Amino acid sequence: MAYCYRCERPFRTLLALNQHTYDSSKHHMCPECTGDFKTLYELREHLVDEHDGCPECYDIFDSESDLQDHLFEEHNMCSICNQFFKSPSNLKYHQLVHREKTVKCFACYRMFVTKSAMVLHLEEGTCKPGIDVDVIDDLATDCYESHKYLDNDGDYKCPTCAKYFRFMSGLLQHAESDSCDETLRWKHGPLAVFLRFLKTRV
Ligand SMILES: [Zn+2]
Ligand SMILES: [Zn+2]
Ligand SMILES: [Zn+2]
Ligand SMILES: [Zn+2]
Ligand SMILES: [Zn+2]
Ligand SMILES: [Zn+2]
Repeated sequence: MAYCYRCERPFRTLLALNQHTYDSSKHHMCPECTGDFKTLYELREHLVDEHDGCPECYDIFDSESDLQDHLFEEHNMCSICNQFFKSPSNLKYHQLVHREKTVKCFACYRMFVTKSAMVLHLEEGTCKPGIDVDVIDDLATDCYESHKYLDNDGDYKCPTCAKYFRFMSGLLQHAESDSCDETLRWKHGPLAVFLRFLKTRV
């Protein structure tokens, strides 16, 4: 009689035992060798370490670097923390967490990864008392370039693609992204002008 020691369970035939190891959640079989792992996690580690195999689709590669390319291109893996993401844009957004905080708040000591994150901090009222979304909206209106990023109703609108935003931080994030040609890098751009104006007022 065949017996599974891990599950402490007898099987009538070797075939039945085999079938069990493939079906049971307590067995995770390596498709490349006879390895049988207790957890999916162990199997995934084994695939990567022993076979240069992809832990997501179980494809086997010739070298570690081929595997890395595959993980990055097919599974949007972050090469810094090895997490997987649904889409390239999700990965890109995630990788912000690995970026150094180089933007100092205009009004306090806190540091941020992007200018939009810093302005969001101002809008949310997590900076100095007295600075909140109303103050940012008022300053956005006061800036002499405001006609380029506010429409007649005072709503935020991208100067380049005319997309609407509820908050200044949203518009700034849009300008920081690659989804539009609007940018904060050009010194005379209306949003860069606003940021300099903001700096002198908070
Ligand atoms: Zn078993
Ligand atoms: Zn194996
Ligand atoms: Zn894969
Ligand atoms: Zn990461
Ligand atoms: Zn602050
Ligand atoms: Zn735009």
